[in-house]
Amino acid sequence: MNKKVTENYERLAQRTGLKLDRETNALFGARGGYDLVVYAADSNRPYLFTILLSAKRDADPLDKQEIREFVKANGAILSLSQKGTSILAQMKGITDQARLGDALEEALQALTAFVQRQGFLNCCQMCGEETELGSYFIGGSYMHLCQSCFDKKKGEISLKAQGRARKKENLIGGIAGALIGSAIGAVIIVLLGQLGYVAWISGAVMAVCALKGYELLGGRLSVRGIVISVVCMILMCYLGNRIDWAIFVAKELDVSFADGYTLIPLLLDEDIIAGGSYYGNLAVVYLFCIIGAVPTILGILSGQKEAEKIHTIK
Ligand SMILES: [Zn+2]
Repeated sequence: MNKKVTENYERLAQRTGLKLDRETNALFGARGGYDLVVYAADSNRPYLFTILLSAKRDADPLDKQEIREFVKANGAILSLSQKGTSILAQMKGITDQARLGDALEEALQALTAFVQRQGFLNCCQMCGEETELGSYFIGGSYMHLCQSCFDKKKGEISLKAQGRARKKENLIGGIAGALIGSAIGAVIIVLLGQLGYVAWISGAVMAVCALKGYELLGGRLSVRGIVISVVCMILMCYLGNRIDWAIFVAKELDVSFADGYTLIPLLLDEDIIAGGSYYGNLAVVYLFCIIGAVPTILGILSGQKEAEKIHTIK
């Protein structure tokens, strides 16, 4: 997060009496007897806040009517939902810092007053016990947990991480998986290409297919696996583009697909297919593949890291 946003977060923390957790950039603290975490679910939109608290009541969960009335009465709130003991309020996006501070303060007051009025008590998100809670970022999400649930959850996650690390990587299986996956991606590129449609989504699909293929048959996705998957993607993009052209040539010259495929270098040499449009098209496929694949790969890597992260918010 950049310095400016951090400074703004610090101001918001001061304004609301919450604290800023430097590692997750979440604001946290207790308000009106409830443990709260305020965070931006999408780091690209740092001022679009979600407020999480963990509470339960003896009566049924919040009903539509209660939610509607709360949202209607509070201008800064976009939506409110309850899943088990998690109560999530989504705020509207406000970039004006002075207004955002006021809006967050209002939202916190309104939300805590509302849940209190509705008979909710602060409780552990997992076991529901009304006891002292800690706030954590664990397994990729924010949670309010009692000590024993935290220990349990921590155990589960480190066990899973150990399992993943111990899992042997099967290189041959991985290569086969990446090839099959990227071939499926190539088929999709060809199909979309035949429809006259080339887009970053083809690249994203190609990347997901190749990486998932590697993980599925290779046992786990390592950095080596990612490199191999990328090589498969490069090959399959080339192949996909050539097949796309071969179909075109076969149709235009009324020859078989195989002839169309083998004729392409000759047609390029003779300038019957303009090199510019053939390689231009290939470049576009590669470009879209990069645009689609890079965020997919980064997403998988950070997702893996996040899923194994155990962090106490303090
Ligand atoms: Zn618990």
